[in-house]
Amino acid sequence: MGSNDSPSLPALATDSKFIFFTDFDGTITQQDSNDFMTDTLGFGPALRKKGNESVLFGHRDFRDSFSEMLDSISTPFDQCIETLLKNITLDSGFKEFFHWAKEINMPIVILSGGMEPVIRALLAHFLGKEEADSLQIVSNQVAVRPGKKSLNEEGGWMITYHDDSGFGHDKSLEIRPYANLPADQRPVLFYAGDGVSDLSAAKETDLLFAKAGKDLITYCEKENVPFTTFHDFTEILAVVKDITAGKVTVKEAAVGRK
Ligand SMILES: [Mg+2]
Repeated sequence: MGSNDSPSLPALATDSKFIFFTDFDGTITQQDSNDFMTDTLGFGPALRKKGNESVLFGHRDFRDSFSEMLDSISTPFDQCIETLLKNITLDSGFKEFFHWAKEINMPIVILSGGMEPVIRALLAHFLGKEEADSLQIVSNQVAVRPGKKSLNEEGGWMITYHDDSGFGHDKSLEIRPYANLPADQRPVLFYAGDGVSDLSAAKETDLLFAKAGKDLITYCEKENVPFTTFHDFTEILAVVKDITAGKVTVKEAAVGRK
């Protein structure tokens, strides 16, 4: 296989033994920014929940349901970001986890169904711009809606998807090249998530952290995907610390619903 055929493995640039993949909305943040915008600026929680349920039970693609949600928001993009910066809060344990991960050379890769400019703006707000810029983010983007001149006019923006999958962003595509490495080169892979945008990633890593009380747990139980639950990153930090220190295996840590 020529080097041009090799999959891209940016998270292995520093020869890490562990990689932490994570969802952004509702996982690193306490609220989901897209849900928040839909509920306060778009068509509201009732229609949103109906859409999420139809995805969870396999009746609809995430992609279509998610576009419908975001299309119900006509607020200019810059105003959406302003609203989010005022209302979305960081997981209480994430900052400590972020700094510890840096110390032990464990890359954190954000895999998100959200839009990159939103994620970058929130992370810069929470962590500082330099720290935010150090994180790899693989997500969807935003574009000016056809017929409009700017993102920042009424009805001016729309989401554009990362790939052609029904997920909009198939998170497994980013994880799989690492998962398929030969055993002697393969790092231990973690994933943390909370909801329907994480279904594509749920089966790919060695240990899945699913947020307590959220949709991803229902899915894992239905599909027999091993997982453990978390309330915030303080719990994730404790488990990952034990695993990296060799005190517990990933199998032992996958205790399911707590
Ligand atoms: Mg989420």
